[in-house]
Amino acid sequence: MPTYKEILKLNESYASDNGKEPTAIKRLIMHHAGLNATAYYQHQDEEMPKALYQVFLKDVDAYIKKNTPVQHLIGHEYFYGYSFHVSKDVLIPRYETEELVTNVLDYIENLFDQKPIRCVDIGTGSGCIAISLKKERPNLIVSASDISKEALKVAVKNAQSLGVDITFKQGDMMIPFAGETFDVIVSNPPYLKTGEVVESIVLDNEPHVALFGGDDGLKYYRRLFEESPALLSPRFLIALEHGYDSAKAIRKLAKKLLPGTEIIHKKDMQGRDRMTFIVKK
Ligand code: GLN
Repeated sequence: MPTYKEILKLNESYASDNGKEPTAIKRLIMHHAGLNATAYYQHQDEEMPKALYQVFLKDVDAYIKKNTPVQHLIGHEYFYGYSFHVSKDVLIPRYETEELVTNVLDYIENLFDQKPIRCVDIGTGSGCIAISLKKERPNLIVSASDISKEALKVAVKNAQSLGVDITFKQGDMMIPFAGETFDVIVSNPPYLKTGEVVESIVLDNEPHVALFGGDDGLKYYRRLFEESPALLSPRFLIALEHGYDSAKAIRKLAKKLLPGTEIIHKKDMQGRDRMTFIVKK
């Protein structure tokens, strides 16, 4: 049998030659061999057991030929250092969204003196934002909603496996929270424009309900700004992820629908306008 290292090299080339990410191959090897990154390097010159190799090859084929995301094959994705179960029912957590969480944590630290702080994640999907916030600041009171029952099942499972207490509600945007009050609203809503060109691996495998936000990609920001005033405490933070070309339009909407607020845009690691924070002090 070839060694892990040889198998990696061969299959990385196979991926690249087919226009796929070579990095996916190492994730599949590590998953099937039950090795973390450190262990992988310790064992890379050993032969890969045949039985593992065969299952691994099946997954390589599913990734390269059937366009199945590696996260669906291994069943999870890391977000904010935590492992989240993912399926076809939820958006696979993205690195950009980790920056949203970091910023929310920074704002919370500086904005509110009262305890406890009540926080809601709208369109929670896998639960990655809500759960990471609660893991990082256990004294937050965290709620989360999603319109998709199937997505909520995934979020509930993730909250259980990561051992956090979050109130999940199924429903459209803010509707399930009528009558409640929050200090922080956080959301990574669907924001791709109808018909926007999206990589086929995303389009074919991730829920469109989590991706598309109407003709201008702004449908859910509009809804959020219209529905949120009734649920916000006098001092508040609204933290949003959005498309790289939507910051201006979101500013305009927020100015109109949330007057008297401070509106701050932030760039993601790639230098793109990716987040907006709306603050009322
Ligand atoms: N960032 C995601 C993508 O590019 C879209 C996420 C969203 O619509 N909230 O696939």
